[in-house]
Amino acid sequence: MVNEGADTKGVGNASEECLRDAATGELIDCVDDAIVVLTADLGVVYANKAALDLMGTTGDGDQSPTLDPSAVAELVVAEDLDIAADALEAAMRDGRAVARVSLDLPTGTRPVEVSLTDRRETPGIGGIVACFRNLEQEHALATSLERQRLLTEYSTVLEAQLSDRHVMLKRLVEVQSSISAFESTDQLGEALARGVVALFGGGAAEVCLRDGRQGKRFYEYGAIDSEGAADGDAETFVATITDGAERLGTLNAVVTVEDHLRSTGQELLEILAEHSAKTIQSAGARDRAVEAMTDHLTGLPMRRLFLDRLEECLRLAEQEGFPVSVFFVDLDGFKDVNDALGHTAGDVMLRSTAARLRALRSDVSNWGRIGGDEFVYFGVDCDTEEAQGIAAQISQALRQPMALGGRSFFTSASVGIATIPAGPVSAEAAVRRADIAMYEGKRSGRNLITVFEPDMEQRVVGRAELEGQFRRSLLGAGPDVVFQPIVNLETGETVAVEALARWASPTRGPISPEEFVAMAEEIGIVDQLDRHVLRKAAKAVRDVCDSVSGKPLRLSVNASIIHLASDHFTDELLRTISEADFPAERLVVEVTESRAVEDNDVLRGHLKQLRAEGIRIALDDFGTGHSSLAQLEQLEIDFLKIDKMFLDGVPDSPRRVRYVETIVAMAHALGITVLFEGIETEPQRDLLASLRVPLGQGYLLARPSAIEALPQAIRQASLNAGVPLAGV
Ligand code: C2E
Ligand code: MG
Ligand code: MG
Repeated sequence: MVNEGADTKGVGNASEECLRDAATGELIDCVDDAIVVLTADLGVVYANKAALDLMGTTGDGDQSPTLDPSAVAELVVAEDLDIAADALEAAMRDGRAVARVSLDLPTGTRPVEVSLTDRRETPGIGGIVACFRNLEQEHALATSLERQRLLTEYSTVLEAQLSDRHVMLKRLVEVQSSISAFESTDQLGEALARGVVALFGGGAAEVCLRDGRQGKRFYEYGAIDSEGAADGDAETFVATITDGAERLGTLNAVVTVEDHLRSTGQELLEILAEHSAKTIQSAGARDRAVEAMTDHLTGLPMRRLFLDRLEECLRLAEQEGFPVSVFFVDLDGFKDVNDALGHTAGDVMLRSTAARLRALRSDVSNWGRIGGDEFVYFGVDCDTEEAQGIAAQISQALRQPMALGGRSFFTSASVGIATIPAGPVSAEAAVRRADIAMYEGKRSGRNLITVFEPDMEQRVVGRAELEGQFRRSLLGAGPDVVFQPIVNLETGETVAVEALARWASPTRGPISPEEFVAMAEEIGIVDQLDRHVLRKAAKAVRDVCDSVSGKPLRLSVNASIIHLASDHFTDELLRTISEADFPAERLVVEVTESRAVEDNDVLRGHLKQLRAEGIRIALDDFGTGHSSLAQLEQLEIDFLKIDKMFLDGVPDSPRRVRYVETIVAMAHALGITVLFEGIETEPQRDLLASLRVPLGQGYLLARPSAIEALPQAIRQASLNAGVPLAGV
């Protein structure tokens, strides 16, 4: 941005002559926004007082103030020169442009918004009108660009209607600044009154805004000379304000008018009315939109509004180089409360959470609720260190007990933080990062504060890919099923087989069942997996008998608790086995021990129904989760599968041995058939045999195998059971 050859005595051409005209000049000098008219090569044609003040140059006495044109270019900080040059180019190409740049002023570096309107062809202006607005004074961050757009639009309409260029520039400036002050209907009335004065000249205006909904209001600007009005110096103008087809009201203006303007007065008022309608409309639409985008339960902005606000903040942050931290807060166990205590209690919990969060930070509009129990917040000029402090406060606030349904509940929250240093990142991406961080934290435990790191995103992408592959697999041939013999330890007979799913990702190879089962639960398709395994297994096992006894084998299948808790579980299961022609009496459903089994009525109902159909129930992985005697008592379980963990260290550790003995004694006493999983060694097998444990499963006896290899595995199992059998 060089401007050699430009007029160094800034204010000196046709425009200047117009504008230095005493009345107009004074008026424009009253405006706070700095206004400069530039030539294409940055020569300064005109600058108002605010501009001269801004640049540290003031006029002295009657003399025209001088302005070094190179000063304009030098004002823009080096990093923003490209932005400024682009905006200038855009203005010359498209007619107008708005940009945000920082100016290096005698008082320090200041962010400003500059709107550039190309008026080079307009006689009397002959340049590009640059209007600088100090962004530090801008409170309504979200509305500033919209307002600027409206103003620019208005000035264009006005220009088209006016012929007197001198007056045009004067009015344009004044009406712009008066309308820009508008923030409520009252202020609009005031602004209109001021606008009317600016448009029609004279010292006073009375504006009566009639609005069907609001009745009649008067706004005065300056002193009304009613006598003057009666004398005919004043004139009444009426203009209708409409919003499309809807008539919003009438604008009556009583103004004292300069003679030469009378002819255009009515027109001008209409333009003003038109502009007001637009402003009313956009303000109304904005209010309605804000209301529609506010969550009624918590009073917090919903997703779209939150993202809009964050987007605006990130844009500013990028230009000015300050960090923004986005927080993603997720309540731990909200679903449990909702399920256990009902939606009303859930709502109370959400409302009370929102109230606590709001109380924590004064910048309330930076909060949002973007999902059931997901709250978000962004901190402006907030680095990771500060963000961690805020997150700790959030955690602390949400750890306090909550009163729900007459009971006191302890809750906690997981918080993810993503700090955006100042880079070009969209609001969606920023929230997603915070979400990823929260999620990563939640995976490793609850009540954690986790800061986003780039490799987390990689992991999430990897997981998404795996999920896609798994879904596709289920739509096609589906995971494979292998079968592990369950052996009668006294006779060496295989009495049943457990069906276990096996899946390999096309890109990553074999994935452990723990991983894909958890993934299927998370993405809500574990029911499909379980059905698929049952269908495949029932067909495969239907005709298989124990090679020794010749008795048909029982089939044991795993059912995810999540699947079991769904309404149609029993119906679907019965349909599946009937389609496969598999007798219910030969089926065992393994349910992993958990609190849900004890607490969830739906789930208990299903288990009861299954037993009524002759299907047997095994409680799997006993000892790893929520073991309670109540569970054993209530559920009428047929088999208790003791987790492998209890055999680790057996028989070397006397303590472990005592545990095993106690579990066996308990199962005997309760009349439940006990089964030990994970028998890997002969001493383990021998201990269990000596304790008269009826059933066992483990690598020592037989590893899971494909259906074709099952007869061989069964033979091997009876050998490995250490019970010599006739005919084997
Ligand atoms: P589980 O139901 O407790 O299954 C027993 C697991 O122990 C199987 O692991 C089995 O291969 C393994 N195992 C058996 N004997 C031994 C042994 O002597 N030593 C050792 N170290 N491990 C032994 P797998 O196949 O990896 O399955 C893990 C878990 O994944 C299963 O635990 C079950 O909870 C789940 N799962 C597998 N298939 C399905 C399915 O189709 N649906 C559902 N919902 N869950 C499944
Ligand atoms: Mg199992
Ligand atoms: Mg198990």
